Amino acid sequence: MRNSTLLGWRLALLALAVTVTPAWASDDRPRPAPIVLEGELTGELHETYLELPFEVPPGIERVSVSLDYDQNNRTVIDMGLRDPNGLRGWSGGARRSFTLSASEATPSYTPGPIVPGTWRLILGAPNIRASSRSAYRAEITLTPAGEQVPESAFFDGPIRADPAWYRGDFHTHTGHSDGSCESLAGRRVPCPAFRTLEAARRAGLDFVAVTEHNTVSHHGPLRELQPYYDTILIIPGREITTFKGHLNVFGPLGELDFQLGSPRLPSLDQTLKEVEGRGGFSSINHPGMPSGEACMGCGWIVGDIDFSQVAAVEVVNGGTMLLTRSPEGPLSHIPFWEGLLDQGHRLAAIAGSDNHDPDNPGRQSPVGRPTTVVYAANLSQRALFDAVRAGRVFVDLEAIPGRHLDLTAKSMGAEVRMGGVLRLAQGETASLTVETHGVENAEIEWVAGANAPALRLSSQELVQLDGSRRQTATLTGVGRSYWVRANIRNQEGEIVLIGSPVYIEEK
Ligand SMILES: [Zn+2]
Ligand SMILES: [Zn+2]
Repeated sequence: MRNSTLLGWRLALLALAVTVTPAWASDDRPRPAPIVLEGELTGELHETYLELPFEVPPGIERVSVSLDYDQNNRTVIDMGLRDPNGLRGWSGGARRSFTLSASEATPSYTPGPIVPGTWRLILGAPNIRASSRSAYRAEITLTPAGEQVPESAFFDGPIRADPAWYRGDFHTHTGHSDGSCESLAGRRVPCPAFRTLEAARRAGLDFVAVTEHNTVSHHGPLRELQPYYDTILIIPGREITTFKGHLNVFGPLGELDFQLGSPRLPSLDQTLKEVEGRGGFSSINHPGMPSGEACMGCGWIVGDIDFSQVAAVEVVNGGTMLLTRSPEGPLSHIPFWEGLLDQGHRLAAIAGSDNHDPDNPGRQSPVGRPTTVVYAANLSQRALFDAVRAGRVFVDLEAIPGRHLDLTAKSMGAEVRMGGVLRLAQGETASLTVETHGVENAEIEWVAGANAPALRLSSQELVQLDGSRRQTATLTGVGRSYWVRANIRNQEGEIVLIGSPVYIEEK
C-alpha cells in the first residue's frame, strides 16, 4: 500500500515540476530555468524517504537547492542529495538551502564535479503526525559554467545595506597556501582560515579578501565561516603567482589557470578577461618588488597586457612595508601605477597586508594594515567591486579608523569625485578640492600626471572645527587628458594616506 502510494506520488511530483522565470542578476546569457519540485507530505509517509529525480544537463557548474514546507504540528522534513554516482550530502533538518560546486559546498555537502545525468533530492520525514499534511516546495537552480560572482559570495545579500566608506584588506593568506601560525602546543602549523577572520575582527575591518596562491581549497572553509563572521564581508580571492608577476583576482569561485606560458594559458589576458566577464576584478600585486630567489616572480615583468581589464594596482603591500618601512623609495609600487595612469589607464589604488601569520603581528604586517577604504553603495561583494572600478578608493597605511581622504573636481556645473572623469575644453577652468581628516597636522600633497598643466593653489589649507582640512586648486584645460590625485603626509613628512585620481579628459 505504502509503496504503490509512493510510486503514484512520485509520478505526480514529476508532473508537478514546473518552470518559473529565472532571476539572474547580471548576465543575460540563456540559462536553465530553476526546477521546482512540489507536493505534499502526509502522515502515512512518516519515517520514509522520497527521492525526487531531476536532470542535470552537461555544462553545469553549480547545483543550489532551497526548500520551503509547512511546519504545522511539528512536521520536520530532512534533506539530502544524490548525484548519479552516489550520496553528495545530508543536512537532515538543519538547513533549508544549500549549494555545491566542483570546488566548494555548504557544510553537510561534498564539493566535486557536477556530473550530468539524473540527480535525486532526498526528502526524509522523521516527524509527521498521522493526521498531518505538509505542503513543500523545493527549488533547484542549475548554474552553467562561467558563473557570475554573486552579490555576496557566501552570504545572502549585503552584510550592510547603507552607502558608506568601508575598510578592509585585499590580500591575506592562510594555511590553504603558505600561511602559518603557532598551534596550541606551540608548533608552527598551516594556519586555519578562522585565525585570519579573527584578526580581521580585532582590526575592526568591514571586509577581508582571502587570496591563496592559485588554489580554491579555501572557498569551502570560507563558506562555513561567513555565517559566523556575519559583520565582515568575506571575499574569495586568489593570488595568481606566475613566474613573471603576481595578480590578485577577486570574486570568481571556479577554476582559473595560473600556469602562464603553458599551452592552456599563453597570455594573462585570458585570465583577466574571464575574471572581468564573471563580474570579478583583478589587481596587479607589489609591482615594484624584484624577481628572484628571495621572492619568486614577485616583480611585474609580464609585459604588455590588456590593462582595460585591470581595475586596480596594489600600491602598498604589507610585506614590502616590513622591508622598506615606507611606500616610497627603490621598491615603491607607486611609480609603476602612476606610469600606467600616464598611459591613460584608469586604475584605483588598493592595498593589502599580504599577511601570512595572523597571530604574530611582529613577524608579519597585521591583517588590515595597510587598509583599503572604499566608498560603496552597500557592503556586498558586487557593490564593493563596482566601487573599486569607479575608483573612489584610498589607502590608509597606518590602519587608523576615521582617517579620510576624498577629492572633488568641478567645472561648468559638472562635479565628479575621486575616480570620476571631468571633461574640460581648452581654456575652461576646473577647481579641485581635497578634503581629509583624522591625521594630526596633515599636509596635503597634490600629485599630477605627466601631461597635467600647473596646478594653482587657490586657497591655503583650511582647518575646520572638526579638525578636517581642505584645500582647493584650479587648473585650466590645455587640450590634453591627464590625472590629478592627493597624498596626505603626517608631520614627519611620511605618506599616510594615498588617494586615487580624478581624470581630466579633453572635451
Ligand atoms: Zn605576491
Ligand atoms: Zn601574497
